[in-house]
Parts: sequence; structure tokens; C-alpha cells
Amino acid sequence: MLTVDFLGRQVYGPYIEISKRKGKEKPRRMVVCLYGSGRKVRRKNMAYARWKMECHLKRELLREETVDHDDEDTLNDEIDNLKIMSLGDNIRKSNKGPKIANLICRSCGTSFTRLARRTKDPERSYCSPSCGSKSRLCAG
Ligand SMILES: [Zn+2]
Repeated sequence: MLTVDFLGRQVYGPYIEISKRKGKEKPRRMVVCLYGSGRKVRRKNMAYARWKMECHLKRELLREETVDHDDEDTLNDEIDNLKIMSLGDNIRKSNKGPKIANLICRSCGTSFTRLARRTKDPERSYCSPSCGSKSRLCAG
């Protein structure tokens, strides 16, 4: 399918870009192929999401602007699902960092947080070592 966009670029696609991982083929994202207009005839691939956002805003995106999929589904290129992020925002979002679990102390009922990977059994969690030992004493 050929479209001419607001900048006069010829747009082919969208195509599904396939990534191969461990021999398995997986659809990664949608891309379009752009041919520049006039003297700037240059062929380039661009994420479909990015191109869609450019058409939506009627301007080219800056290099430091990236288009993020709100629901993390890189194949969902509905305009409602797309938003512009600076590169830094996007990296920060992808590296969510360690997961934090919200827990309630079994002994005193205080809510507290702990790194999720250090919480093997949330049912047996205490906010502090003293609560833990108190409750062990009670139980024993
Ligand atoms: Zn406690």
C-alpha cells in the first residue's frame, strides 16, 4: 500500500518487523518504508508508531523524541496508545528497576515495602526483625 504523507514522502507499509530470537520468529513492531520527496530522495525505515505520531502532530519528531506504546504492546499502533517521550523517559520506563512488594506486617499490622525478590513468603513477613521475633515468641 502506498500513501503520500503530509511532508510529501511516499510511505509504503506498514509491515511487521520480525525479530528472531533463539530460532523463534516473533513480530516485533510495525514499520513503514519512507521515500523522501524532491531532492531528498532517501529510503528509510521508520517505526510505524513514530510515523503515525508525526502525521498526527503534522511535524517531524526530534531525534530525542521517541514514541512509546502506552500499553507496552508494540504492535498496538492506535494513536490513543501512542505518546511522545524523551529518550531518557523511555529508558527510565523500560528499566523499571527492582519490583517493590507492598506488605502488611503480620505482627503489628503496619504496611511496609520490601524488594519483591527478597520476599519469598508475603504471608510470613514482618516489618522489622523485632516484630518477627516477637511473633515467634508468641507462637512458641
Ligand atoms: Zn511490625
